[in-house]
Formats: sequence, C-alpha cells, structure tokens
Amino acid sequence: MSAPHSTTDVLVVGGGPAGMAAAAQAAAAGLSVTLVDERATLGGQIYKRMGPGFEVADTRAIGRDYAVGERLISQMGQPNIDVRLLTSVLDLDGTSAIVCEREQSTTVIQAQRIIVAPGAYDRPVAFPGWTLPGVLTAGGAQTLIKTQRVLPGKRIAFAGSGPVALAFPAQLHHYGANITLVCDAGPPPRPADMAAMLIAAPGNLALLRDAVGYRAQLLRAQIPVRYRRIVVAAQGVGRIELVVHAAVDDNWRVIPGSERSERCDALCLGYGFLPSVELLRLAGCAFEDDEDRGGAVVLVDDWMRTSVDSLYAAGDGTGVEGSLVAIDEGSLAGLGAARDLGAIGSHEAERQSEPMRRRLRRRRLFRRALRRMHRVGPGIYELADETTVICRCEEITRAALEPALGASADPAAIKALTRAGMGLCQGRNCQRTIAGLVAQRHHCALGQVRSPTARLPARPVPISAVTDESIEDYGFFTAPATPRN
Ligand SMILES: Cc1cc2nc3c(=O)[nH]c(=O)nc-3n(C[C@H](O)[C@H](O)[C@H](O)COP(=O)(O)OP(=O)(O)OC[C@H]3O[C@@H](n4cnc5c(N)ncnc54)[C@H](O)[C@@H]3O)c2cc1C
Repeated sequence: MSAPHSTTDVLVVGGGPAGMAAAAQAAAAGLSVTLVDERATLGGQIYKRMGPGFEVADTRAIGRDYAVGERLISQMGQPNIDVRLLTSVLDLDGTSAIVCEREQSTTVIQAQRIIVAPGAYDRPVAFPGWTLPGVLTAGGAQTLIKTQRVLPGKRIAFAGSGPVALAFPAQLHHYGANITLVCDAGPPPRPADMAAMLIAAPGNLALLRDAVGYRAQLLRAQIPVRYRRIVVAAQGVGRIELVVHAAVDDNWRVIPGSERSERCDALCLGYGFLPSVELLRLAGCAFEDDEDRGGAVVLVDDWMRTSVDSLYAAGDGTGVEGSLVAIDEGSLAGLGAARDLGAIGSHEAERQSEPMRRRLRRRRLFRRALRRMHRVGPGIYELADETTVICRCEEITRAALEPALGASADPAAIKALTRAGMGLCQGRNCQRTIAGLVAQRHHCALGQVRSPTARLPARPVPISAVTDESIEDYGFFTAPATPRN
C-alpha cells in the first residue's frame, strides 16, 4: 500500500470526552493536534450530536449531556487542532497510523505521540432468541430514541446490570417509553452499600444525585425492578413477543425452576460495556483482565502511557469507568504527551495534573463502593443453548462451536477452526462469550483465557480503500506461461 503521509505532533483517535479532553490539553501546550473520529460528528457516545441534516431547537429536550458536550466540542475549533471526521484508524504501527477517510482513500498520519481514546460498546450477551427482531442493546435503543425520536416498541422490557440498569430504563421512560419490567442481574443495595456510597460521596455528589433521581423516577412510574434476575430467552414468531427471566445466584448462574415470562414487543439489554481495544492490541500493548471494567483492559501508567513507546490510552477504551473519568484521563494523557515532548515543564505538568488525579481517586472510591452490586458474574456467558447463534456475522451456533471448544482452550484456534469472530465485527459481538464458554468448558477463570490475535483493519472498510492500485497483478491469477506437467 503506498499512501500519502501527513504529520502532526499529537494524533488523537476518538472524538468522545476522552479524546476531546486530550486534544484540548495538548493544544493548550502549543502542540499541533490531529483528532480523528469515524463518526460524522464529534461527541463520542455520551455527547453524541444529531446527524447532518438535523437541527436542534431545544437542547434541554435532549438532556443535560448535550449542553455539556457543546462546551467541549467548541474547544476543538482551535487553530492548532485539525479535526477529521468520517475517518477510521485501521492500524497503528509505532507512531504511524493508517487511516481511511470517508471509506475511500487510505492515508498515513505520522505523529510524535498517539493518544487512543476509542470508547466502549455494549457487552453482548447470547441467549436463546437474542437475535430476534425487537431485541436490541440499551445503547442502540438510546441512540434510536435520542437522535431519531423513535421508540423500539410499545411494551418494553429491560434486562441488565450496574448503573446502566438504573439509568437507561429511567431515561427511556423520560422519553415516553412504556417500560413494563426491569431485571437487574445484580443484588439489591444493602445498608452497608449505602454507607459505603455515602463515605465515597465527596466529589461524587452529582453521580449520587443522578442515581437517587433515576430510582425515584422508576418508583414514581411504578416500574417494577426485579433484582437477581436475568433474561434467559426471548420468544416470538418473526419478532420478540415474550421474554423469559429467571433468578440467579451470586455468580449469575440460573436457579432452575425460577423461570417466569412476560409479554413484550421489545427487549433492551444493558449489561454494561466492553472497551474497544482492537487498536491497542494491534499496537502490541500489555493488558490485564478486569471484568468490572469490561474484561481486557490496557495497562497504563500515571500519565496514561501504555507499555508501547509514544502510545497513550484514555477513557472507556482503557476500561469502562464513565464519561467523567474519561475526561480526566484524556486530560492527563494530553498533558502527559505535552510533558514528554517538552512542550510543558515537568513541575507545571504535575501541578496541572493534581486536580485531575484527585478527582480520579474519588471516582474510583465511589466505583469500589458499588462493586458488590455491579460485579458481572460468569453465568452471563453460559446462557446459550445448542441452537443459539454465538457469532452473528458468520452465523455460528453453540453446537457448531462445541467440537472446537472440546479440542482447544485457545480462542485463536477456535476462531481458525470455526470462523467465529472472522466476520464484519471482528469478534466484538462473540469473543467475550466464546472466552466465557472456554472458561466454563476447561474449568479456568475467564481472565486466564487468551485473546485471539488482533488483525487489521480495526474497522470495516471497503476493500478498494486498502488495495494498492499501482500493483496490477500479483501473479495469483495469471496462468503460468508453460503448463506444469
Ligand atoms: C452505547 C453507550 C451508551 C452510553 N450511555 C450513557 C449514558 O446514558 N449516560 C452516561 O453517563 N454514560 C453513558 N455511556 C458511557 C459514556 O458514553 C462513556 O463513559 C463516555 O462516552 C466515554 O468517553 P470516551 O471518550 O472514552 O469514549 P466515546 O464517547 O465512546 O468516544 C469514542 C470515540 O472514538 C471513536 N472511535 C473508536 N474507534 C475508532 C477508530 N478506530 N477510528 C476512528 N474513530 C474511532 C468512536 O467513533 C467514538 O466517537 C454510554 C456508553 C455507551 C457505549
């Protein structure tokens, strides 16, 4: 591939809270910054803007986050920040990034430092019927409602865990959705949890206020919240008509005989998020496993430097901790890059970083206070029956995976034997479930299961964008001049 080059001091991948905070900080130190995002607008997940062609008459109607995002986005207008939208980063190699603009041309951006802030995506959970029309992720439902004003159904069931299981049903109700049932796989709060939350409250009052507000909203609307219950099946002809849920133990394993069913025409699933780690894997970064933060999380130091030279990571892509943590981590990464490039002195960088570090410590204290209620149990990856499709892209069922699961505990081998994870999403929808099935089958902890090797491109692009037109014939398809005997 021969692609044109451009250069910048700092390349930031991702235009969400973490990426924008990183860009603002590096630019404030006088560095040239290129910020790329594959979407058509800045904002990432939480500060998502309306698509081109839409106009917002009343920002308050879209929620408080919209206005907060506006402030961060306006900072991206600085002359030393070059924002490139509809631009996907496909691979990282040292301080070079291969990017694809508007699904057409591929170029290389050469930077002195690269900050990766790619965010997260909904944790996929495979159970019988999860591929039926009407079953969608909470994030999908949120986007549908927030940006298109479309409700996914008339009787909506919600199943999930953690902060998402509290915030999303309340938000969907706020936008006019008829939520008939909420199943939270985690336990209900105990007095000891409340006490831990109150101790961790300083610096987190807004989060506490939001949580109380969401709970009050659900109570006022008389939306039943069933704790320690998980969705085990979605049933219906052509689309979901019935949801079956069951009680679970501490490991989220189903207690037989506890199944109940409810009619619904949409089911939203919100079991938290998984970090988008594809680029960090391609770059060769070191990882650890932390299911509470979404499984594979990249190792970073005090300045958000990864184990790979000149490469930093920030936000939900380093482990899911929410938008407020993402902003402080992004700022730290931007400041760290500026410090490492000598654009700002070490003492000044330390001074500026102190309030960010203080806020991060407080947020993490709050997260620890919630851990008992929000811990994800391994049973979530064991809900599929034989006919359940695990890899949606390649349509591979659990039964089709079984021989490979029996033969190997290595997801890379299972991928090679079955093609599971080789489709358009490159395993984002099935790899965690497959890792869970490996752990179950081979009696090991989920964290001990290896991740398959990352392959470029990190994002799906048309083949024409990555082919080299100057090479007319590799010789693969040319008949040999002299026939072989
Ligand atoms: C579906 C969903 C719904 C959420 N809803 C809420 C909510 O209601 N309330 C709340 O408080 N929090 C919510 N969160 C959490 C919150 O959005 C995040 O904590 C926050 O946005 C994290 O910021 P970030 O900058 O790390 O990532 P993001 O905001 O996700 O931004 C990452 C950006 O990187 C871009 N990107 C990724 N990979 C590439 C690539 N290879 N090339 C180019 N660009 C790339 C993406 O397009 C995206 O714009 C939600 C998260 C998700 C995933």
